[in-house]
Amino acid sequence: MMSDFRLTLDEGVAQSIREHAQEDYPHECCGALLGTEKDNERHVSAIVRLSNERTDERERRFFVSPQQVLMVERTASREGLLLLGFYHSHPDHPAIPSEYDRQHALPYYSYVIVSVQQGTPKELRSWRLRDDRTGFLEEVCRE
Ligand SMILES: [Zn+2]
Repeated sequence: MMSDFRLTLDEGVAQSIREHAQEDYPHECCGALLGTEKDNERHVSAIVRLSNERTDERERRFFVSPQQVLMVERTASREGLLLLGFYHSHPDHPAIPSEYDRQHALPYYSYVIVSVQQGTPKELRSWRLRDDRTGFLEEVCRE
């Protein structure tokens, strides 16, 4: 279901996410989204690449440690930006959150997912976990 939340990716940001996803294929890549927020509008102006800390099932799963979250929050505040959320890739799967994604997501953050089909980055969509954590709302995502 499409929500009123809006996420705009700066010129170059969407491309950087796709490049990261392509480089890490067939594994999932992940990273942080930094930018600004006003009402329901978010504007991503920078990304920070994160390492996938899972050692198993890296094709389908990613894990960002609390230490990495702290690190990117510090980076964001140093640049006068907010940590708005995270991106990751779905190798050979659509850009729709999995059940694993739902279980590991937190309300508030934006979750950008880019689908990579046979090594080529395709659609990019963004999601927010519902406050009751039962599922995701899709954000209106502009590149
Ligand atoms: Zn996922």
